[in-house]
Amino acid sequence: MALIVHKYGGTSMGSTERIRNVAKRVAKWHRAGHQMVVVPSAMSGETNRLLGLAKELAPAKPGAAYGRELDQLGATGEQASSALLAIALQAEGLEAISFSGWQVPIKTDSSYTKARIESIEDVRVKAELDAGKVVIITGFQGVDPLGNVTTLGRGGSDTSAVAVAAALKADECLIYTDVDGVYTTDPRVVPQARRMERVSFEEMLEMASMGSKVLQIRSVEFAGKYRVPMRVLSSFTPWDIDLNEEARSGTLITFEDNEDMEQAVVSGIAFNRDEAKVSVLGVPDTPGIAYQILGAVADANIEVDVIIQNVSKDGKTDFSFTVNRNDLAKTLDLLQEQVVPKLGATEVLGDAKICKVSIVGIGMRSHVGVASRMFRCLSNDNINIQMISTSEIKTSVVIDEKYMELAVRALHREFDLDQPQDSLAKA
Ligand code: ADP
Ligand code: ASP
Ligand code: MG
Repeated sequence: MALIVHKYGGTSMGSTERIRNVAKRVAKWHRAGHQMVVVPSAMSGETNRLLGLAKELAPAKPGAAYGRELDQLGATGEQASSALLAIALQAEGLEAISFSGWQVPIKTDSSYTKARIESIEDVRVKAELDAGKVVIITGFQGVDPLGNVTTLGRGGSDTSAVAVAAALKADECLIYTDVDGVYTTDPRVVPQARRMERVSFEEMLEMASMGSKVLQIRSVEFAGKYRVPMRVLSSFTPWDIDLNEEARSGTLITFEDNEDMEQAVVSGIAFNRDEAKVSVLGVPDTPGIAYQILGAVADANIEVDVIIQNVSKDGKTDFSFTVNRNDLAKTLDLLQEQVVPKLGATEVLGDAKICKVSIVGIGMRSHVGVASRMFRCLSNDNINIQMISTSEIKTSVVIDEKYMELAVRALHREFDLDQPQDSLAKA
């Protein structure tokens, strides 16, 4: 008998028929003798619908009071889907009970709309599992030290599932979704994208942080920190396929050091349309400038991604960085009010029409010239690179949003990812 956590995304929970299908699949695992914990997302479109209603009433009013209500509201989507799944499981003849985040409890900090999980109590869940029940735990949410409902950021049910699996020391966390695994890039953008049988944890972390929305990045961080065995697989296979076949399908996230294995140079292409570029022009090129600009941004709890500072001319320089698009207006206001007067900058510009495209692969460690191959490929298509950032296993460029699909397809071809795995370029 193993303890297994299943996570089902919004599309997989998208109708009563699909919820029934999930219930039948979970029942199959339970009847095979496993203890089952299930973490569902809200039914597809529900979180957007709820947040859209809030926006109609008060378009983007930052502040803790508004954030608190957004979370109170957003968390109801998962509460509904979890109760529906419990009802469907009971209809299958199983004993099932659903818990909201605060009932478990899943304890988080108080950063509304992007709260971080701090700890998970396992007593109540374990007692119900030991009593033979299937336990359903709402994805996406927790409770802060004052008892306020919090949510974990969009796509956060992945993180709930992996964190629950870590807290319960589950044998495996299976992320069921609307694709049959992790692909070399988003198959919706590149139809030639291929499913990977396995992907290293490090690559998955870069893919997720560079924008591959198949897994929320924090879920991959949790999996790495607590070594949670994790697999991404399809919820659209017939529920009654052979359990062992199902358990081996999809993409396994591995923690082995694959460096000795023959490795493709680039394993995947990620892209992200969620960022915006901010430029502060004509700032004096003196020590402490980066701190004065980015310190103020960090103090406002705004995450910064790619950063560049230009060569200075006549003692002045330009400084650019990217932030989440949702934070653009707030960042521009803050710079105008707090930083520009202090530094005497000539201008602050914002550009939301950018995207970031990244190549990822642990094979890049042992190959030179990978980045220049990427730049050549983009220049062949006349795509101008605005910013570059690199790490040991990825290179990212910021380009005009309108070239995103062209760039992703060209790079997918350039690094032989269109080819079946066996014929990939080897080290
Ligand atoms: P869920 O609702 O199950 O959490 P998501 O929409 O969050 O599902 O994630 C699955 C989607 O991620 C897929 O439909 C696919 O379009 C997208 N995606 C982006 N990058 C990748 C990738 N590299 N591999 C697979 N899917 C990807
Ligand atoms: N329902 C939430 C969202 O749409 C969480 C999730 O689906 O993972 O972002
Ligand atoms: Mg998701």
